[in-house]
Amino acid sequence: MADLVTAMTTMEDIIANLTPERPLLMVDADEVLLQFVARLERFLLDVGYELRLESFRLSGNIFDQASGDRADAATCKGLIARFFDDCVDDIGAVEGAAEALAALSEHYQPVILTNVPKRCRARRQASLATLGLDYPVLANAGEKGPAAKRLASAAAHPAVFIDDLPPQHASVAAHAPHVHRVHFVADPRLGPLLPKAEHAHIRLDDWPALQLHLTDLLSS
Ligand SMILES: [Mg+2]
Repeated sequence: MADLVTAMTTMEDIIANLTPERPLLMVDADEVLLQFVARLERFLLDVGYELRLESFRLSGNIFDQASGDRADAATCKGLIARFFDDCVDDIGAVEGAAEALAALSEHYQPVILTNVPKRCRARRQASLATLGLDYPVLANAGEKGPAAKRLASAAAHPAVFIDDLPPQHASVAAHAPHVHRVHFVADPRLGPLLPKAEHAHIRLDDWPALQLHLTDLLSS
């Protein structure tokens, strides 16, 4: 299985290996499967910056530790690119994610749909596998609606999309409205900063609750 999963690197590869009769789980990585913000905070401190969780965004919440100045958009973008290069395979799993996905795999076929830079895709996949999350990984850029539509067209209902970012729920609602959309924010400090995404069907922030919901969805 591991070799087969490693060989799936493109949308075409992943679609060719989907089973049309099985329901689909499209799962985001950062802040759904992986503790992205917690690791980003540590990285930023190491390079002289600080993340202040004042709102649900990165750009605008990163400050230069020495001067106290807010980092501008270009600096934030550069820091996040460097974070992926340095840390993409050193991010811990969200509690309960591997166990829940393993159980859900009895009925669903998971695909990890992540906006990781393409150059980091293989490292992300290898890291997820070591965390017990050995599933196909598709590196997406920008909105996820078009990719969700293509993946869902190759699998059975229900097709489910799980992500922390509200604009991604709007994108999937626009491109693939039949997909069931779960808004999930793993970090307990971030969750309260953000209400349920308008275009998601439900908001859940822990994997045991999500597992129950997705199991119930199969019989509804
Ligand atoms: Mg995310």
